[in-house]
Amino acid sequence: MANTLLLPLMSPRTGRELLFGLALGGLFVAGLLFCPSALAYGEESKAVERASGSIKVDQVGYPVNGPKVALVSSPATTFEVRRSSDGVVAFSGKLTPATADADTGDQVRAADFTPLRHEGSYYLEIPGVGRSWNFTVGMNVFEHTYFTAMRGFYGQRCGTEVDMGPEFPGYTHPICHVHGEFHSSSGATGPRNNIGGWHDAGDYGRYMVNSGISTGTLLWAWEIYGKKLKDISLKIPESGNGTPDILNEARWNLEWMLKMQDEDGGAWHKQTSEQFAGFVAPQDDKLPSEVIGTGQAPFKSTCATADLAAVAAIAARVYKPYDAKFAAQTLDAARRAFAWAEKNPDVTFRNPQGVGTGEYPDRNCGDELLWASAELWRTTGEAAYHEFFLKHYQKYVATLDSPPAENWNSVGAMALWTYALSKRKDADARAVSAIRERTVAAAHAVEARTRANPYRVSLQTKDYIWGSNGVAAGYGMYLLIADLFSPQPGFVDAARDNLHYLLGRNTFSLSWVTQVGENPFQHPHHRPSSVKQGAPWPGLLSGGPNAGRQDAVLAGLPKDLPPAKVYADQLGSYASNEIAINWQASLVFLLAGELQ
Ligand SMILES: [Zn+2]
Repeated sequence: MANTLLLPLMSPRTGRELLFGLALGGLFVAGLLFCPSALAYGEESKAVERASGSIKVDQVGYPVNGPKVALVSSPATTFEVRRSSDGVVAFSGKLTPATADADTGDQVRAADFTPLRHEGSYYLEIPGVGRSWNFTVGMNVFEHTYFTAMRGFYGQRCGTEVDMGPEFPGYTHPICHVHGEFHSSSGATGPRNNIGGWHDAGDYGRYMVNSGISTGTLLWAWEIYGKKLKDISLKIPESGNGTPDILNEARWNLEWMLKMQDEDGGAWHKQTSEQFAGFVAPQDDKLPSEVIGTGQAPFKSTCATADLAAVAAIAARVYKPYDAKFAAQTLDAARRAFAWAEKNPDVTFRNPQGVGTGEYPDRNCGDELLWASAELWRTTGEAAYHEFFLKHYQKYVATLDSPPAENWNSVGAMALWTYALSKRKDADARAVSAIRERTVAAAHAVEARTRANPYRVSLQTKDYIWGSNGVAAGYGMYLLIADLFSPQPGFVDAARDNLHYLLGRNTFSLSWVTQVGENPFQHPHHRPSSVKQGAPWPGLLSGGPNAGRQDAVLAGLPKDLPPAKVYADQLGSYASNEIAINWQASLVFLLAGELQ
């Protein structure tokens, strides 16, 4: 469970999880007194020995034909780019004058080495400051990161044994969470195993609403960038079965979502234990996995059901060439889910008594219904879905003016974009042009802002909230969608700037994807990693800086930290260092868009 709500009071962490966080937070805050630089600012001690945290590079690298900029937060005037193999200078230049960045408090200088067009591994050397982490200049520099981030989903698989293979020896777990049952709030009784799906975040819960945006985003990545993705093997058990691996991995979660649908078409909200499990390995969490409902008729919830309808409708399009029978099954599920949600448009979810896992409390499911209608229309062309969309879409057009626009609780933009991307001949031309124009106009503003930001990131001061790294990835996705409507290199470059931020070109000089780059974060709020010796499970995106400080670790940081600095690479900081499948999906979309 990860939450990106702005209101701290609406934090979903309750009961045991919060108490655990407080206990851990106390320990780690005590630790800060002894080793502030290593813990508070996310720099491992090796960083001090091997590279200067003042020099910020994308630790994965830069496309050979694109802009190449590193950032420096210590006083200096010149820089050199040296070959990693022998230290020979490949490029040298002058830093820009310093610019003050209010969000970090840093004075930031830029080192532009765009003219360097020889592929290879390099580092920056800055007289009086030191050297940077190594990075690559190459043709398809993000492909392995895409592979690793997609494998991050595989590592989250529930109800099966997992083995990350020879690249990550020892990252394995036996089958987990095989004992499921209906919770008293579901309106049903007895066993309901519902094996499958992905562990949502740092916990072992499975939540329909967050599964909706996450699985939908991955299916879109396939639909939009399939040509680039189809031959990339993810080395998962299904690899080589004739279906592209991104679809194989998404199907793992989709199959679980389908099992959450009741016979009347409605979908239960989540399947979790009553309270969060302790920090144990997946197979050691023996709490029953409960199918949890609203506690009163009709027991299923509208947002969960409409999200299922949307995702299953996309699935009916994208799996058809590979498994027509499965595609027909998903279309049937989507139709039944939509019918249920249309009939029950306002059944919202609150944790029933005795349940303390994540709530994903969305008070308005109109946007989920709109998304479902748009995807069903795009798949079937049927008039009833089209009429529903045309009747309701105008309410959501203004959300496009506030990128990144989409989130787990806000999918109106997904509805509008899929409509405008459908290329169906019966699409309403006025609706399509409104959606395209609003998106492109907002993307121009984001692009300009990103270029002007000292850290070259689209995030604004107000964006350093719970899951800010997911917001950065979301800006990237927004820019890439705008590029589909109006192709512009500036949109793709600005999207990539957000990727550079996530992969190390940030105030902490930290890669926020586990086991990616030379200086990745080390201590995610993630149960499987908490019981693992050494590095955490690979390919997982951290939530990132969060000025909301909703956990004790963040609350213990210095009071005057600027918002982008409110981050702690600690297990106990669930509000800044948890991982979650929705942020992960935005990262994958961004990586897919930046592949060549
Ligand atoms: Zn599990």
